[in-house]
Amino acid sequence: MGSGKKSALSQEQTEALRALPSVEELMEFPALSAAIEQYGRELTVDSARNVLERLRASIIAGKEGGNIAGLAEAVAREAARIFEPSLKSLINASGVVVHTNLGRSVLADEAIEAVVRVASSYSNLEYNLDEGKRGSRHDHITRLVMALTGAEDALVVNNNAAAVLLALTVFGGGRDVIVSRGELIEIGGSFRIPDIMASSSARLVEVGTTNKTKLSDYQRAIGPATAMLLHVHTSNYKVVGFTAEVDVTEMTELGHAHGLVVVDDLGSGVLAELPALVDEPSVHDSLAAGADVVTFSGDKLLGGPQAGIIVGKSEYIEKMKAHPMARAMRVDKMTLAALQATLAMYLKPEEALAKIPTLRMLSETDESLKARAEELAAGLKTALGAGAVDESGAAAIGVERAASKVGGGALPLLELDSWVCTVSPSGITVDELAARLRETDPPVIGRIHKELLLLDVRTILPGQTDAVARAFQQAFEIPQP
Ligand SMILES: *Cc1c(COP(=O)(O)O)cnc(C)c1O
Repeated sequence: MGSGKKSALSQEQTEALRALPSVEELMEFPALSAAIEQYGRELTVDSARNVLERLRASIIAGKEGGNIAGLAEAVAREAARIFEPSLKSLINASGVVVHTNLGRSVLADEAIEAVVRVASSYSNLEYNLDEGKRGSRHDHITRLVMALTGAEDALVVNNNAAAVLLALTVFGGGRDVIVSRGELIEIGGSFRIPDIMASSSARLVEVGTTNKTKLSDYQRAIGPATAMLLHVHTSNYKVVGFTAEVDVTEMTELGHAHGLVVVDDLGSGVLAELPALVDEPSVHDSLAAGADVVTFSGDKLLGGPQAGIIVGKSEYIEKMKAHPMARAMRVDKMTLAALQATLAMYLKPEEALAKIPTLRMLSETDESLKARAEELAAGLKTALGAGAVDESGAAAIGVERAASKVGGGALPLLELDSWVCTVSPSGITVDELAARLRETDPPVIGRIHKELLLLDVRTILPGQTDAVARAFQQAFEIPQP
């Protein structure tokens, strides 16, 4: 908590506050009549209230008072913004490959084309062209997922959280589901295993301790009300030191001996063999270990659209497909199209690595990363002018080795050696530079380390180098040719 010390307002601040018009007065400004006509009175009043509130807060915080003459324009801009696209594309220079806040995976061209095709015309989404009658949307993808994972059957829902909720509801509803205390995870965006359980009507039975859970812990907890054993991949943290956990093979042996369903929530789910991902459990391994149902995300390491992929034994997948909740979680045609195109590339691993951006980023060579960091540094120096390289200019620019993360809220502490372009601004602080780069078009999101802004080239898409350089010109207000 802060010190709670409130400084009294200066005379200047008090006067600035007094000089502000009320919402009603502001609405009478002649310069606002166009906005009222265009956006309606209600929305304009709302905008006026927001603008005044921000201005008041800014005066109280001792920042600029703003000018009353520009108030009407600010209100009109505020109203206009509601109708502008708010989801903007930006440049991810953070080095975090699967960045949940930045939209996770970038789709491959093939997936984008598939989305455009299916979105711009009618399709056979639920129509069987051979028989001329109603078909199932699942049919477009089931065989492909089965072929790639070796599973008996498959189902796709909106995201992996939905997949886990569906499994808990179908197999654990009204009964007990046993989970290790070491796996009661929270994933960014408030996906918490205990909360998902609570909303599923399955009863959570925790076993073991945070650092150690043994097979005998599960064994002792199994009773007449037990329906399911849940294994959760602890995808975003690791317990190190004095630890023990039960692997899926042991868990399935125990579960099956008691007639229980064993579900493995893999989180990311790896389908490709990548050196960077050797420690991530693969879908194959989990099925081979005997899990009845395995769930994973479409937009984490798979590199496709947001989706929850469920694979496993036919009898269980059938039950999940038939549950009314599956209807409420069904995937959209655009998701299906993108997922199908992404998965199809996994048939040839070299093709998947070359074309799926997430996999390409994770497998980019040191040499290539270094070359791109140097190219970016050269581009920035040119864009910022000769001054960029010495203390009198906008910024000092260098190239350094650093570590990229696979995924902020999604994956382990896995770090990959990468190369970054470092920027040490002069005249402004590094925080100020980062803030200005959030306002450029497109915004550039880097990483701050000590007094340096790091631009990690691993997540900067090929062809974005010039856009980064232009963003820096905008940030430093250097006129562009
Ligand atoms: C990410 C994750 C989820 C949630 O998946 P979404 O696709 O984001 O809904 C669930 N479980 C684990 C282990 C995860 O890593």
